[in-house]
Amino acid sequence: MRREGGCLCGAVRYAVLGRLREILVCHCLECRRWAGRAWAATAARAAELEIDCSDGLAWVRSPRSARRAERGFCRSCGSSLLWRAPGSETVAVAAGSLDDTAGLRVAAHIWVSQATPWDPPPPGMPAYPHGYPAAAPPLSWG
Ligand SMILES: [Zn+2]
Ligand SMILES: [Zn+2]
Repeated sequence: MRREGGCLCGAVRYAVLGRLREILVCHCLECRRWAGRAWAATAARAAELEIDCSDGLAWVRSPRSARRAERGFCRSCGSSLLWRAPGSETVAVAAGSLDDTAGLRVAAHIWVSQATPWDPPPPGMPAYPHGYPAAAPPLSWG
């Protein structure tokens, strides 16, 4: 399955050639600063992510990240698009930047210890105080 997405201005377009992971909604302070509120991210395998016009894409270090993560955004319009960490085989992709989001569902909210009072996880939704726990159900790729 091929899915495409991109930034607001169109300078950055990408295609995911394989499966996408269920969405995690991250409430950590860095995602909030970056996206304006909790950031909803699916993920792609790095080898299956093709970025068109990649000089339109800039990467910034996520300053507090224990995983030394970087965040990818459009140089022209600033859209928050990608998150990657050294050694990871996957790249997180802003779920809202996909052209067609059909079939994606939210698996859980994470880092809710840093959630704002006005943007809490919905009732009944799995929510974790920090990252997605190793003991939680494996995330599915559809
Ligand atoms: Zn743009
Ligand atoms: Zn986060």
